[in-house]
Amino acid sequence: MKRDIDILRAAVPKLVAWFRRTARDLPWRRARDPYAIWISEVMLQQTQVATVLPYYKRWIRRFPTVDSLAAASLDEVLKMWEGLGYYARARHLHQAAREWNQPRTAAQWRTLPGVGDYTAAAVASIAYGERVAVCDGNVRRVMARLWKLEEGAVRPGELDAAVPARAPGDFNQALMELGQRVCAPRRPKCGECPIASLCRARAAGMQEAIPCRAPAKRVPHYDIAVGVCRKGGRVLVAQRRAEGLLGGLWEFPGGKREKGETFEQALVREFREEVGIDVEVEAPLVKVAHRYSHFAVTLHVFTCRHRAGRARALENAGVRWVAIGELPTLAWPAANKRILERLAPRGR
Ligand code: SF4
Repeated sequence: MKRDIDILRAAVPKLVAWFRRTARDLPWRRARDPYAIWISEVMLQQTQVATVLPYYKRWIRRFPTVDSLAAASLDEVLKMWEGLGYYARARHLHQAAREWNQPRTAAQWRTLPGVGDYTAAAVASIAYGERVAVCDGNVRRVMARLWKLEEGAVRPGELDAAVPARAPGDFNQALMELGQRVCAPRRPKCGECPIASLCRARAAGMQEAIPCRAPAKRVPHYDIAVGVCRKGGRVLVAQRRAEGLLGGLWEFPGGKREKGETFEQALVREFREEVGIDVEVEAPLVKVAHRYSHFAVTLHVFTCRHRAGRARALENAGVRWVAIGELPTLAWPAANKRILERLAPRGR
């Protein structure tokens, strides 16, 4: 089916009027500060509004300006992000604040770390009124249905010609919000849709069939041995390297069990390889199942006792012996929270 930009142009006034009538009152919608809008857009990537709200409010209280974010340590930034997931976003925000070059246009925003087409278009249109369209999953789905695209997704830049000169930010937010609240992936609420009269998929009764969904992939699962190693009232924690998954966060040492190994044997080997110490594995502490976007893990957690050697960072950014009471001050991946809960009541 033809990608007819005039259909979208005809939809613009309906979309913007609908958005202004029904938009939720969210703190970043009251903000005119590009920094605050940028923070909200990054937090909202892959994350629900209800989850983002308390994080956004805390963040803006603690880092009200780009300078205050640049001056903070990465540890503190990660701690503020703890639990939001996709931690590269927090590292990139911090890095971008340090490289800040007063961006205005979408092209300038794209030069900052972690800022892709979507974020650049959102901030430039909302904060500076640039006529550039956002293109996220919600927008792609709405457009696939509006145009009845049976193959090929909408590309960044393809919708720019329909962006109105007045309030391009409202247009972008309207299209995204329509995708979130009305034109949902399953069972779109076409009866409530402000652009239903223009929608080709609806006219053909194909709103549920478009866009075509790829079959769900099975995610791999890994069993991980994890050791809480005690020495004189403290436990050993290691910081993940800055680059890569969960970079900069703290965790208890451990790793994948190799073929033929017991979890206890895996732990003894991992402690030697990762932090250079010998441990004695004592007892199981807790088992934690956690799912990431592309794989799932089960953490088999054991208490251990330090036997010999000085702990050092062989495969991590750093290691520390920390009092149990101090553990919550560090930034942890979500899966480790259950371990902390098990340790807390023991008070040792
Ligand atoms: S009419 Fe239905 S399918 Fe078409 S855009 Fe609206 S909600 Fe989506």
